Amino acid sequence: MPVSGLPPYDTQNIFARILRGEIPAKKVFENDFAFAFHDINPQAPTHVLVIPKGPYCSFADFSASASEAEIAGFIRAVGTIAKDLGLEAPGYRLLANMGEHSGQEVPHFHVHLFAGRPLGRMIPG
Ligand code: AMP
Repeated sequence: MPVSGLPPYDTQNIFARILRGEIPAKKVFENDFAFAFHDINPQAPTHVLVIPKGPYCSFADFSASASEAEIAGFIRAVGTIAKDLGLEAPGYRLLANMGEHSGQEVPHFHVHLFAGRPLGRMIPG
């Protein structure tokens, strides 16, 4: 279910099209719950996007509407991806934008995984 007051899930959003194989992506990982690929405009040496397979607009939608299995499967996938990329020792940052003030551009829930250099302050300014 979309969040009250926000538009419903747009099945033509770019990540939905990537999941359907209509648009190419540089795949990093896939299982029943998650798909991960390199960001097209990387903001760090490693910049991977992890998305759930289900149609969720945002973190708010996912956290409220996804099943326990989807949530557990997704979170475990994020951890597995970071571990398999060798990022636990140097460290990494996770970020999820939600809604207008965050600047969320793509209305399919996604987690950014940044790594590969010291990442500085969480929020500049
Ligand atoms: P957000 O602002 O949190 O919605 O982030 C959306 C991210 O998706 C941005 O970092 C974009 O660079 C990335 N992006 C947009 N289109 C594509 C694409 N076709 N393949 C990979 N990443 C994309």
